[in-house]
Amino acid sequence: MLDSISTGEARPYRGRFAPTPSGPLHLGSLSTALASYLDARQASGRWLIRIDDLDAPRCRPEHADTILRQLEAHGLHWDEDVRYQSRQTADYEAAFEQLRADGLCYLCTCTRARLAETSHQGIDGPVYAGICSRAGHEGSGSWRLRLPDGEISLVDRLHGTISRKLRQDIGDFMIRRADGLVGYQLASVIDEREQGITALVRGADLIGSSLRQQHLLRHFGIAIPAYLHVPVLLDSNGLKLSKQNHALPIASRNAAQNLIRALTLLGQIAFAADWHGRTDEIMRLAIRNWNPALIPRRLDLPA
Ligand SMILES: [Zn+2]
Repeated sequence: MLDSISTGEARPYRGRFAPTPSGPLHLGSLSTALASYLDARQASGRWLIRIDDLDAPRCRPEHADTILRQLEAHGLHWDEDVRYQSRQTADYEAAFEQLRADGLCYLCTCTRARLAETSHQGIDGPVYAGICSRAGHEGSGSWRLRLPDGEISLVDRLHGTISRKLRQDIGDFMIRRADGLVGYQLASVIDEREQGITALVRGADLIGSSLRQQHLLRHFGIAIPAYLHVPVLLDSNGLKLSKQNHALPIASRNAAQNLIRALTLLGQIAFAADWHGRTDEIMRLAIRNWNPALIPRRLDLPA
């Protein structure tokens, strides 16, 4: 386990990309991976891969392999061993037991229908109303983290300070599902600790997760990473480009072209759209010229 005392001193940059292996990379996920990679390499930092394969029914090992091959073909070479969430469940379970021993979580027996009826829509998604927080349920169900009053905030390099009220905007969130799987938020902070992550470059659709994770990072005394939330790529209907809405996988044989498209989307167009270089040449220039301040506030799929 890595030493995780927050000292405020500059730590060597360690970033990561954490894809869910529910399908191959598309232009949106390539752009996020690229932003994270360029940010790490420009800082002479390390860039790690974590495969978010906890939710087994959605994930397939062959998709994880495809993603890794796609990254390599696009010149996104990672350091150290790939971390698979599905192999870390003992670590997650220990963290959950610690929270439970500290009296910070409670059993929730709400059905989906009850949650839909009673939750309100917050800035980042549904907010649990806390119905079970004083019920003292025992037996089976999911486990939620009891949040205190107050605010949580993070500083984003692109968006500045982002704050939410813990109880009104976020709500007691799930940290262990009824089927026994530790939730994404808890698993992620344990992974950041174990991989010693100092910088998170991720999609802006994860701002709500970043705030929840902030709360957990503080609780466990894990150093807070620097944040850069990159806008997610929207399709022609204004929806996030994703496997669910049939985003096309990127073809590795068009790696140089794909990189130019992703760089253009990210506002890193200093070396022009008609560039015909090789992948390694493009990457060398992209690392040197990387400037997060040029990232547009919204990314639309080019027509
Ligand atoms: Zn409940």
